[in-house]
Amino acid sequence: MSNVSIQPARISKVLPDSIGSEIGCEPGDAIVSINGVSPRDLIDYQFLCADEILDLEILDAAGKTHSLEIEKDCDDDLGLEFETALFDGLIQCNNRCPFCFIDQQPPGKRETLYLKDDDYRLSFLYGSYLTLTNLTAREWERIERMRLSPLYVSVHATEPEIRIQLLKNPRAGKILEQLQWFQDRRLQVHAQVVVCPGINDGIHLERTLLDLATFHAGNVPAIASTAVVPVGLTRFRPDLDELTAVGPEKAREAIAQVQQLQAQFRQQFGSTFAWLADEWFLIAQQELPSESHYEDYPQIGNGVGSIRQFIKQFEAAASEILPPAIAAPRRLSWVVGNAVERAFQPLVRRLNAVKNLEVHLIALNSTYWGQEITVTGLLAGQDLLEGLAGRELGEGILLPSLMLKAGERCFLDDLTVGELTEALQTPIIPIMGVRELLTACVDSEYGTKKNYS
Ligand code: SF4
Repeated sequence: MSNVSIQPARISKVLPDSIGSEIGCEPGDAIVSINGVSPRDLIDYQFLCADEILDLEILDAAGKTHSLEIEKDCDDDLGLEFETALFDGLIQCNNRCPFCFIDQQPPGKRETLYLKDDDYRLSFLYGSYLTLTNLTAREWERIERMRLSPLYVSVHATEPEIRIQLLKNPRAGKILEQLQWFQDRRLQVHAQVVVCPGINDGIHLERTLLDLATFHAGNVPAIASTAVVPVGLTRFRPDLDELTAVGPEKAREAIAQVQQLQAQFRQQFGSTFAWLADEWFLIAQQELPSESHYEDYPQIGNGVGSIRQFIKQFEAAASEILPPAIAAPRRLSWVVGNAVERAFQPLVRRLNAVKNLEVHLIALNSTYWGQEITVTGLLAGQDLLEGLAGRELGEGILLPSLMLKAGERCFLDDLTVGELTEALQTPIIPIMGVRELLTACVDSEYGTKKNYS
């Protein structure tokens, strides 16, 4: 739980030509209060900034306090960014899920990597999942008063004893009452179910999805959507846990089971309501559902439909960006997780239809995490070192940026892009999204312009 008192909100960036820059704010300054109230977090800050007259108390980097009054339109933003969204500290998790990814990290890394957040503010602001097991009456009241909706809730199982077993927390059994609480207040959640074979699969999964579907009725359904995700395991997990990895057979079984329920939901609601994460199809080596299946992609951040969306964006951008031929021969390697090898074959064929362009898809699994099938975002620097060493890599390596830590130039295992470039003696071209991928393929200057290594 958060037990840190409210700290002044430290500014990390002041946008040019913003109100913040006009009044002289600088990175390193901190907002102490707005109209006499110290914001707990970005939610308070945004709420307080909606007034037309703001009395700001600002602490500068030298420790001097300044009072300013500004007048603005109510929807004018101050153009300030902050070092953190939470000025009173992170609300930490009080569960002990055996599949927790934080516990499945290698030992000896930075301490912040082991912080388990279960904070409804991050859920509201950024769509991270929370369990609702650590909320005090004060926080429930705030969610209601500020109408913090939608939130993203890890349900996993609706049967109390199964959820308690999974979260290892006696407070986890109240999920149905909690969902009712949201429904009574016309607040919404997106739900997720992480399926652990032998614990919450089979009849328990069916029970859970049917229970969740009862909250999907009305104009403002309390549960807007549900994602069904296979448990992800790494070799760093504790010995003797009760978990079994999802293999191809289990994946095919879960797909068939959920697809049957989806047909039922479509009849009942006119919506699929519960979607299978892409990973199920990748593990089962089955075709991904068509694009229309995903409706408005309500769970895209949870790996539901992201590959289908990527393929669709690729097709749309390819006809615009790819020329029939490029002037000089160009040979590149495109590194991905082996989970998408099959799904990306048509994209590679399309790239290689450009005369003089030769793109090799190199699909790797992760020995670092000890996985046979790996999604691209989990490949570690070590995996690339091992998988690419000694290979003919051409003029550059197209590297999906999602392998890198957010905002950094290093992989999940802290190897840097520069170190990998050095070791492989090949330029690395980090690419973010489809347009960068296509441009990097046909523009020989592209890697140099980005100058990432
Ligand atoms: S709720 Fe999330 S952070 Fe907490 S133990 Fe479970 S998986 Fe880990």
